[in-house]
Amino acid sequence: MAGPKSTAAFERAKQVLPGGVNSPVRAFKSVHGTPFFAERGEGPYLYDIDGNRYVDYLMSWGPLIWGHAHPQIVSAVQEAAVKGTSFGVPTELETQVAEKIVELVPSIEVVRMVNSGTEATMSAVRLARAATKRSYVVKFIGCYHGHADHFLVKAGSGVADLGLPDSPGVPKETAERTIAVPYNDIDALRDVFLQRGEEIAAVIIEPVAGNMGCVLPKPGYLQAVRELTRSYETLLIFDEVITGFRVALGGAQARFGIEPDLTTFGKVIGAGLPVGAYGGRRDLMELIAPSGPVYQGGTLSGNPLAMSAGLVSLKMLEAADKTGFYDKLQAYGQQVVDAFVDHGKQHGIPTYGHALGGLFGLFFHDGPVHDFESARESDSAMYERFFHAMLDAGVTFAPSPLESAFVSGVHGDKELDITLSAISSVFRTLGA
Ligand code: PMP
Repeated sequence: MAGPKSTAAFERAKQVLPGGVNSPVRAFKSVHGTPFFAERGEGPYLYDIDGNRYVDYLMSWGPLIWGHAHPQIVSAVQEAAVKGTSFGVPTELETQVAEKIVELVPSIEVVRMVNSGTEATMSAVRLARAATKRSYVVKFIGCYHGHADHFLVKAGSGVADLGLPDSPGVPKETAERTIAVPYNDIDALRDVFLQRGEEIAAVIIEPVAGNMGCVLPKPGYLQAVRELTRSYETLLIFDEVITGFRVALGGAQARFGIEPDLTTFGKVIGAGLPVGAYGGRRDLMELIAPSGPVYQGGTLSGNPLAMSAGLVSLKMLEAADKTGFYDKLQAYGQQVVDAFVDHGKQHGIPTYGHALGGLFGLFFHDGPVHDFESARESDSAMYERFFHAMLDAGVTFAPSPLESAFVSGVHGDKELDITLSAISSVFRTLGA
């Protein structure tokens, strides 16, 4: 339960911010609670203004793969800040970050930096429409790609948490150009292509879905999506805002051996500062202004603080990858998942989960979750009880059953112990 200071801070915030927050999922609505307010973070821990400490699996919704306030990242930001916070002319840093992304991600030849995941996906779709001269976009039910108009159609994350499958304010004509199909169902996608394949500019997909809980692609599914899109000359956009540099150094595309035409990034590449990026084949990316006619710009894009943090973080990941970094993250996540599933079994509570790289998912569900429909079947009331009891035990997950959990490189044995013993005692109360 939120302490008195957080409760008062939330009341005050509600007077001047819609719902008291700057992003809907922060309001703890789907777990019917009051959010705790952050005071500071340190490594794997988040501290609230009431003095409580939590082992953090929210990790700012994914960016903090090196935990809170990592000394190397903090000093990179400090060093950059004293030189100036924004210039509006190019810096060498921007090129260095772009070179690193091109080096690490197989399908990327050219990349454009933006300020958020939303900007990245929005711009990638504009580019795909311009390149193909087609207007339809296919997305998957329960996937979230930010809040641009054409993505607020059967979206996951906060949109699904709040039961707002589509948002008012999105013109009907825009929503009609987005076709939403079930995830992991290649026949459903094939049907859409049979109907209007020649009009589809792009298929955008989270290669591992992270916004309906964490849902893995079925074996062969992403390959089939790749083949289908290629055969219709539709561009395939991998939205790696969550999976990029998190499920493997080269992202999900490296992990599953698929080459998308365009890729979007956010979160990890900025190490907690506001960054997004989109990139892909040179011939496509050269259509972006000023090389080509597709307009997209940004006053703060390639911001020196964000670029400095991102560059250090990517270099640290590159070095750590040589000693099995992503396997270690996955092994950690898998232990949490195993404990969750085992205790569920012991107490007769349906549980399911999986881990991939630095991402894992926990569901109160009987058997596999492979799409939004099955994710929705999971017991949200049980998740709510689990979430609050884990908070009381000093561990925080996302305040919604339809989100993923994130592990960082600074979560260690001590945090794992705290987590496993909290799970053990919390299940005793859940089963009661
Ligand atoms: N794509 C995916 C897969 C995401 O998870 C998110 C954010 N959770 C976005 C896009 C949008 O990113 P942002 O919130 O930075 O705009």
